[in-house]
Amino acid sequence: MMIELNGVSVTQPNAPELSILDIENWSVDYRQTVFVHGPSGSGKSTLLNLVSGLLECREGSISVLGERLDQMSRRRRDRFRANHIGYVFQRFNLVSYLNAIENIELARSFSERGDRKTSADTIRPLLDSLNVASREWLKPVSQLSMGQQQRVAIARALVNRPELLVADEPTSSLDQDNRDTFLSVLMSIIEEHKMTLLFVSHDMGLAGHFTKVQALNDINRVV
Ligand code: ADP
Ligand code: MG
Repeated sequence: MMIELNGVSVTQPNAPELSILDIENWSVDYRQTVFVHGPSGSGKSTLLNLVSGLLECREGSISVLGERLDQMSRRRRDRFRANHIGYVFQRFNLVSYLNAIENIELARSFSERGDRKTSADTIRPLLDSLNVASREWLKPVSQLSMGQQQRVAIARALVNRPELLVADEPTSSLDQDNRDTFLSVLMSIIEEHKMTLLFVSHDMGLAGHFTKVQALNDINRVV
């Protein structure tokens, strides 16, 4: 399994009596593209933070690529994420004064993986494949449109060739046409690199692009 959760429970950090997630068993197979939907506040971002090791799993077990995240220190989880997981944040989290290439190079510098090819060999084709025009590559990303920043954020998440990509509502700032184009491009990259995708959103209109569609309410026993 790419992802496996057993008996996982997450409570609010400042109010431990309030549950956010209570997941008995949930798994994602290698090379699945999974769409998990739920309304705002239902725990989608919390689930991704757990799976990527940003959030400590205090109760239950969570494995990614057969490795137990719940048994790792924060430092090891951070290293594991840098080497194996690409994360597309809802608000992109790009460094605003750096340009696209520099943002992506920064992500490359955290990973211990792969060849050390020059950025021209890895970053430029990636930006090309995501339809970021070369005239945009050297501008501070704060000067790019939301749609362009979005695609730079995806390129950054993909640059270390992670086995798993997690995406937190990455289409929320795009209009319908751009949304469908974006998902088609994303799916072809996922397919080409034989990756697994875990994508969360409230927008059910996206469901048709995925191999597996689940409501968070069907996974999570907290109502
Ligand atoms: P979603 O991504 O589906 O909108 P979240 O995972 O962000 O949902 O949040 C789920 C619930 O957990 C919400 O009620 C939210 O207020 C609460 N929550 C999430 N993170 C924290 C935190 N750091 N401190 C307190 N409450 C939190
Ligand atoms: Mg969220």
